[in-house]
Amino acid sequence: MGTGSDIEWTDATWNPVTGCTKVSPGCKHCYAERMAKRLTAMGQANYVNGFKLTVHPHMLEIPLRWRTPRRIFVNSMSDVFHKDVPVAFIKDVFDVMNRAHWHEYQVLTKRSERLAELNRELAWRPQIWMGVSVESEKYTFRIDHLRETHAHVKFLSLEPLLGPLPRLNLRGIDWVIVGGESGPGARPMDPAWVTEIRDQCLNAGVAFFFKQWGGVIKRRTGRGLEGRTWDEMPRGLNEFPAALSLPQLTV
Ligand code: SF4
Repeated sequence: MGTGSDIEWTDATWNPVTGCTKVSPGCKHCYAERMAKRLTAMGQANYVNGFKLTVHPHMLEIPLRWRTPRRIFVNSMSDVFHKDVPVAFIKDVFDVMNRAHWHEYQVLTKRSERLAELNRELAWRPQIWMGVSVESEKYTFRIDHLRETHAHVKFLSLEPLLGPLPRLNLRGIDWVIVGGESGPGARPMDPAWVTEIRDQCLNAGVAFFFKQWGGVIKRRTGRGLEGRTWDEMPRGLNEFPAALSLPQLTV
């Protein structure tokens, strides 16, 4: 995919890898899996393998062709640190992110062990933001792995939030996103979990972004928290125009 995005905290998505396998409870209702099935049914060339992990070398150079700066979510349809993605391909993805330096890139993983392992082999320029997903306290070790990396901007995606996180260690973390699960079978999120995380961010001076309450029909529940929206972004970063001036690329 190389198009505008519906995700509240990014402008575009870029998927040089598609497909994945489930690794923890946050994966149960994986949005990428649902979407991949739909794209396969629609005959999209990059999804002939359905949700099976597939690398797409022909997708690598797309950010170099986008001349308008964007905030790009890397691999919304996969996890770039999945064990089946060759190290050489991960390095190719980083090479493009370093060369197309006018964009900002948001890379998110649940495979924090592999991220920590490869950290020293990767080139980290300031435009590459690195994040880990954490759905419950059992997986906060991913934050420790992220902290070990040389990424200049480090963020947490606490989505789908499945339990309280009362003891977050936010040292070295720049940005926290919280969201409830949405879609069929969505598991509930207790508002007290959200305010507790928000307060930890406020105390630690960490930018807080509340994405959504979620639920089966997410537009019904919205994204207000105690009378306002929380759209904070990491400090000192550019506000990119969300309007995309280039034609959509087909893949
Ligand atoms: S890691 Fe992400 S993309 Fe992979 S199965 Fe889990 S939720 Fe889906």
